[in-house]
Amino acid sequence: MTADDQTRANGGMGATGRSIPLMGRDSEPTIFELSAPGRRAASFRTTDVPEWPAEDLLPAGLLREEPLDIAEVSERDLVGHVTRLSHRQYSVDLGAYPLGSCTMKYNPKLCDDAASLPGFTNAHPATPEGWTQGWLELLADLDARLCAITGMAAATLQPPAGAAGELTGLLLMRAWHAEQGGRERTKIVIPDSAHGTNPASVTLGGYETVTVPSDDRGCVDLGALRERLDDDVAGIMLTNPNTLGLFEEDIAEIAAATHEVGGLLYYDGANLNAILGVTRPGDMGFDIVHMNLHKTFAVPHGGGGPGAGPVAVGRRLVDFLPGPRPVRGDSGWSWQTPPKSIGRVHSWHGNALALVRAYSYILASGGDGLQRVAERAVLNANWLRHRLRGVYDVPFDRPNMHEFVASTGSLKRSSGLRAVDVAKRLLEEGFHAPTTYFPLIVEEALMIEPTETESLQTLEALASALERIAASPEDAAAAPRTTPVGRVDEARAARRLVPTFDARAADESDRLS
Ligand SMILES: *Cc1c(COP(=O)(O)O)cnc(C)c1O
Repeated sequence: MTADDQTRANGGMGATGRSIPLMGRDSEPTIFELSAPGRRAASFRTTDVPEWPAEDLLPAGLLREEPLDIAEVSERDLVGHVTRLSHRQYSVDLGAYPLGSCTMKYNPKLCDDAASLPGFTNAHPATPEGWTQGWLELLADLDARLCAITGMAAATLQPPAGAAGELTGLLLMRAWHAEQGGRERTKIVIPDSAHGTNPASVTLGGYETVTVPSDDRGCVDLGALRERLDDDVAGIMLTNPNTLGLFEEDIAEIAAATHEVGGLLYYDGANLNAILGVTRPGDMGFDIVHMNLHKTFAVPHGGGGPGAGPVAVGRRLVDFLPGPRPVRGDSGWSWQTPPKSIGRVHSWHGNALALVRAYSYILASGGDGLQRVAERAVLNANWLRHRLRGVYDVPFDRPNMHEFVASTGSLKRSSGLRAVDVAKRLLEEGFHAPTTYFPLIVEEALMIEPTETESLQTLEALASALERIAASPEDAAAAPRTTPVGRVDEARAARRLVPTFDARAADESDRLS
């Protein structure tokens, strides 16, 4: 037994010398408090290979003089620490997570199984094409299936998130317009209900945002849109259903009007789960579509791992797609870059296993299964809206898609109950909060997306909890009281960053500001 093995076997409570209550509030020490010199969580087999002096491997100027100041802990203490931390966290695996727009559905373990196969995990991104034919075929088949689902001609799997897909889409618009010639177009139209990444991507893509208001039904105001459309407009970005969970019924007119002035239509696919197998962005007139595989196709996200935001395009934009893409030739699959490509938008394929998860989800569900996903997501959201009307305001109280927006507007005026209080109090009831204060056009917004993975019993429990919360606003104002961390002053936490847990440093920082 080596000394390291002994440390591992000893376990215990690290250097703190005190016992740590399992679920108590604020009782978990930091990893540095658990640290004791010489402890290790990993040990290496001794070999007869001589140790090279560091000076022979790296120029002397690049070598550290002092060892790195990192925590030294045994494996036993490390596992205890991260397991206790994981118990203080709400997660998709723990229970319902009705965070609107984000689609926090349960992620089947089957997809993790597929992504753990050694043939996938052992491939290096630089492995020659000849040795990764299976990988390339998988990527090409995923590309084809995503195109079948969205009604588009070809896709790039490179963008690692929805927001990265948006920027890719805007660069595609720019390249396409440049080829058409004429005066440079400078504007992108976005509805006032849009997700914050849309205008941010527009700015990053070098365009100017023009906002179009929603009408009193919560959809794009068609008259206001026509006033904004001219030959300075490069395109419009929409999500359909929109962030109020409402289907843009005028989408055919919106598409025709935008195309008439020479603009392109970009589909923000974050809400694609509402229409899977029922209708397709391509059929609605969209030219460019991003998908959030981590929302619609059950890839863990929100701290659960890398996302994926493939972008699919209509026929006239295929040659501009980022490269390289897997293409089949006489001698098998190879990487090729489209003739007028905008270039790479992501180096290598660091998120490739997210693509495997989405691919296995699509294959395991099948076409009929994907359609059932959409139908149940919509049914669950409508059931919940129906159940909660009369308890909370529902500003657009008509049949919705996979999510709906409630509000504590009237409750705030009568009893002081705010959206944030509902969110905090729900944690005590064992549920994650809905999205709050978004979309911006609804005061005290609670954007609720139950997803298709929750049962009727869970929906009942969530609705009952929301009813109890509305009935006792004083309780909600004090919540959460049963979670490891109580209500923090978020503005203060964001403004006064304290890079250490040292209480004296925190006091000092308070005194200075
Ligand atoms: C989540 C989301 C995005 C951004 O996607 P990321 O993958 O988080 O970058 C864009 N639009 C809407 C409507 C979204 O819900």
